[in-house]
Amino acid sequence: MGQISTDDPPGDAPENVAWTIMDAAQLYRLDDWGMGYFEISDAGNLVVRVGDRPEQRIDIHDVVCGLEERGIRTPVTIGFPALLKQRIVEMVNAFATAIKVNEYRGGYTGVYPIKVNQQRFLVEQVASIGAEVGFGLEVGSKPELLAVLGLTVDNPDCLIVCNGFKEERYLRHVMLATKLGRRIVAVIENMHELETLLRVFEGTGVRPLIGIRLKLESHSSGRWHHSTGAKAKFGLSIAGVLEVVRRLGRAGMLDCLVMLHCHMGSQISDIQVVNAGLTELTRIYVELSRLGAGLRFIDVGGGLGVDYDGSQTNSDFSTNYTLEEYATTVVYRVGSGCDEEGVPHPTIVTEAGRALVSHHSVLVCDVLGAHRFDQWAMTAVEARQRLSELPDPPRAIDEVVEALSSVREDRLLESYHDALQAREEALTLFRVGLLDLEMRALVDRLFWSACLEINRLAQDLDPIPEELEELQHRLSDTYFCNLSVFQSLPDSWAIDQVFPIMPIHRLDEEPDRRATLVDITCDSDGKIDRFVDLADVAPTLSLHSINAGEHYYLGFFLTGAYQETLGDLHNLFGDTNLVHIVGDDAGGWAIQEVVEGDTVSEVLGYLQYEPRILFQAIRRDCERSMRAGRLTVAEGRALLEAYDAGLTGYTYLE
Ligand code: PLP
Repeated sequence: MGQISTDDPPGDAPENVAWTIMDAAQLYRLDDWGMGYFEISDAGNLVVRVGDRPEQRIDIHDVVCGLEERGIRTPVTIGFPALLKQRIVEMVNAFATAIKVNEYRGGYTGVYPIKVNQQRFLVEQVASIGAEVGFGLEVGSKPELLAVLGLTVDNPDCLIVCNGFKEERYLRHVMLATKLGRRIVAVIENMHELETLLRVFEGTGVRPLIGIRLKLESHSSGRWHHSTGAKAKFGLSIAGVLEVVRRLGRAGMLDCLVMLHCHMGSQISDIQVVNAGLTELTRIYVELSRLGAGLRFIDVGGGLGVDYDGSQTNSDFSTNYTLEEYATTVVYRVGSGCDEEGVPHPTIVTEAGRALVSHHSVLVCDVLGAHRFDQWAMTAVEARQRLSELPDPPRAIDEVVEALSSVREDRLLESYHDALQAREEALTLFRVGLLDLEMRALVDRLFWSACLEINRLAQDLDPIPEELEELQHRLSDTYFCNLSVFQSLPDSWAIDQVFPIMPIHRLDEEPDRRATLVDITCDSDGKIDRFVDLADVAPTLSLHSINAGEHYYLGFFLTGAYQETLGDLHNLFGDTNLVHIVGDDAGGWAIQEVVEGDTVSEVLGYLQYEPRILFQAIRRDCERSMRAGRLTVAEGRALLEAYDAGLTGYTYLE
């Protein structure tokens, strides 16, 4: 089996050693971040495991081709409800095991924070799976609450935790839901909210379930480390918590204070943070119980991380713990903290978001083309031949030809500096008008040819000098992807989040290129140059050459949390097509739901354009042009039809 090392370009694998799908799995670290949900089929396609039986595999490439046949184009977000269910069940099982092993005497209820991905179908699925396994929902705003109340009418036992800023109307909804018999907890963030809540519930005949959100002092980790500490945006200090307790005591409502809540930040990468936070939270829980609060839930918030890069470390894109270790840590800390003071074990509530929904969703886009530096490469002999055909070849070119022909293994850095210098001198001549455009193009080709040769030879150096390593990245290909990073992968742009990215087919073929990715927005930030890699995050990704006339599809994985719903309309690229795919009993797949992506009309409408008025304006323009003889009637009609079709079309390249 060919051994893949990222230090070697893919093309340098030992000869006569056949590439296998195992090499591909290793190259893209599939087993590290894929957690067994993804595999590569013998045909070299990426498949999703939706069950334990061998035939319960869905071939993602097959799905994309099937969708194309049905007119559902890429970019497309494909959701696999089976993966969602697996994640929820694994979470419930991990806590059940931890509870048993630690002889914990309280229960466990997870709630899914819908802000992580509010798509209706997804929330419906969570609610329906939740009804089976005892999982609830968390909301952080009034619109989210209204959505959840409407979706859970048949499941009044569904625990609903209400976070976020709450004015009177929000709290009225909580009160009405309480009247409807729902299990709904309003988590109080400040005294004003508490006073409003007490006013809203007064004289209604129902008593609220109240939670308080605590600002933990323990340090968090990762990008969201500021979620704890005195300057945290949300929650009450200890002094504030005591004020709430005293106020509820005066109102004779201490029994309503049922939940202590905290949130230690998202994507917690280090289990020690969970340990420290839980110890502090439990201490306060115990003390508040002693003060007479009717506490019975301890809500540890979200933060359970996802191992995006598969490294199992405490880097920002990974976690140094498993789901099982997380559950054990939470259960043990709460249980032992309560035991020390003889306080009954509460129901543990988690608000894990990304860990539940990241895996179930894959974004697939087609690659539109590639820019390759080697497409213009030439040898020094070819260059000399070209120059000899010119009547009066400029001398400046000689230096560049010389730089190319003098590239040698034992002086690679020097050769690179020679090439840089020769090119700079030629560019100076161009700027002052002593070199024409033809010669300028030739200089560029010679310079990049020298760089390509230097880069080829540098692969044998260990270590590769820093400048030549940078050159290697500069020489990588650029693959143009039919998507908007701002719409579909906003975290990649905003916080340099690394997502696993790999081809969804041709994995039985050895990748022969290294590339960065760019999207189709007119924004140079619309690029991806951080990839999961064996060693560390890499600036380029191993990909296949694009075959003429064939589609080349890339999958962007673990994108189910905080992406499409956070994305924006940069350049008016709208929501992608979204499908939910289920496996059928015969080993095939079926579409469960299609949510068509935005049309051009829709995105224009979001920004107050009226497509009908735009169309009328173009019609008037056509009529004017026809009268002026610039357009025939047939051309005018074709133009209007094209404009109309454009308005109803997909915002991405079709
Ligand atoms: N709960 C609260 C209060 C949050 O603010 C968040 C996200 O920041 C979550 C839960 C979900 O966090 P995560 O997706 O990291 O699990």
